[in-house]
Amino acid sequence: MTKRTLPWGYQDVFEGQQPSWELHPDTLAVRAGLSRSGFGETGEALYLTSGFTYDNAEMAESAFMEETDHHLYSRFSNPTVAMFEQRLAAIEGAEACFATATGMSAMFSSVACLVKSGDRVVASASMFSSCYVVLTEILPSWGVTTVLVEGNDEAAWAAALQEPTKVVFIESPSNPLMEIVDIAMVSKLAHAEGIDATVIVDNVMASPVMQKPLALGADVVFYSATKHIDGQGRVLGGAILGTRDYIKNSVLPFTRHTGQSMSAFNAWVMLKSLETLTLRVERMNQTALKVAEFLSTHPKVESVSYPFLPGAKNYETSIKQMGGGGSTIGIKVVGGKAEAFAFANALTVIDISNNLGDSKSLITHPASTTHKRLGPEVQAKMGVTPNLLRLSVGLEHPSDLIADLKAALA
Ligand SMILES: *Cc1c(COP(=O)(O)O)cnc(C)c1O
Repeated sequence: MTKRTLPWGYQDVFEGQQPSWELHPDTLAVRAGLSRSGFGETGEALYLTSGFTYDNAEMAESAFMEETDHHLYSRFSNPTVAMFEQRLAAIEGAEACFATATGMSAMFSSVACLVKSGDRVVASASMFSSCYVVLTEILPSWGVTTVLVEGNDEAAWAAALQEPTKVVFIESPSNPLMEIVDIAMVSKLAHAEGIDATVIVDNVMASPVMQKPLALGADVVFYSATKHIDGQGRVLGGAILGTRDYIKNSVLPFTRHTGQSMSAFNAWVMLKSLETLTLRVERMNQTALKVAEFLSTHPKVESVSYPFLPGAKNYETSIKQMGGGGSTIGIKVVGGKAEAFAFANALTVIDISNNLGDSKSLITHPASTTHKRLGPEVQAKMGVTPNLLRLSVGLEHPSDLIADLKAALA
């Protein structure tokens, strides 16, 4: 063991001699966070260990006092997980990262570590259903108030932020309708004098490749690493990124005791995935735009939600804050649930599955699956109608996906 690294901070992103220039995020995605065991392995080592040993009791005591750089227990930190955290922090341009078991543990911990009974949260109204349940049912049952803001209207956000607010929560683009909120605009309002809220962005749908919320003024970013970061449909995971102070003094004291940590095995899988993240996400975005263009002209399609489609709602904001439109498309077919089901059932290449960001293209009917829990009223408010399908575009060749969609629509 040549080096031991704690999970916060990424000062040691590049093993060995530090280059004299600033490395591109694509290089960091391959190189950052590498901590070799001493055998000189090229692939990152998998440390499947729950605990760690100490040479003597004094060493254990000083490690627990955080006087020395030593892993204590894999619920707190683990060398493989730390490599993943440091690599992702380097890609994101964040000071620090904490990796979690799932995207939802990242979402829940990122907010719950900051709020207490009596606090107020302001959130964008369109979001993934589990995020909605956390913000409108679970946290309110503990005395936290959540106020939802619909759309991207500056006046509406300013009005919601008149009262003292602890956390501002933005999911942009949203799942499944790819609704866009201007992250820079909301961050500015949230950081105005007398408000000083922590702005947390669910950046799952854009991925770190297509959107950098911290650079837009947000304070915290989180991921479901299950989606594009693994991107190959294998393991669950999540990550919270922000300042060293936030991760060390807010997130870790909460997650250490509530047990949100990522498994070393999943971190090892995802370390390799990070190396190809840009390649995969760029290709998925290119294909998704082609597929969205095809669908938008089809007579059996009522509407297509894809942020980079010219004329899309909030198109200007999308191209301002994102490098690509993402890999997910909201498709409303002409008709209702029966027509939506018939379309999904007729596909031969694209699978029916409720995951997204996978190399395999997947389609789901949100109203009866991922967003079923919300009930018809909230679904209608979010635009999750019975004729809506969510298509996650994968890495198949665009011509095969378009042919599959064309045949199924016919
Ligand atoms: C999937 C998803 C999550 C939750 O992630 P899990 O890894 O499934 O727990 C949160 N937000 C968005 C936008 C998602 O798509």
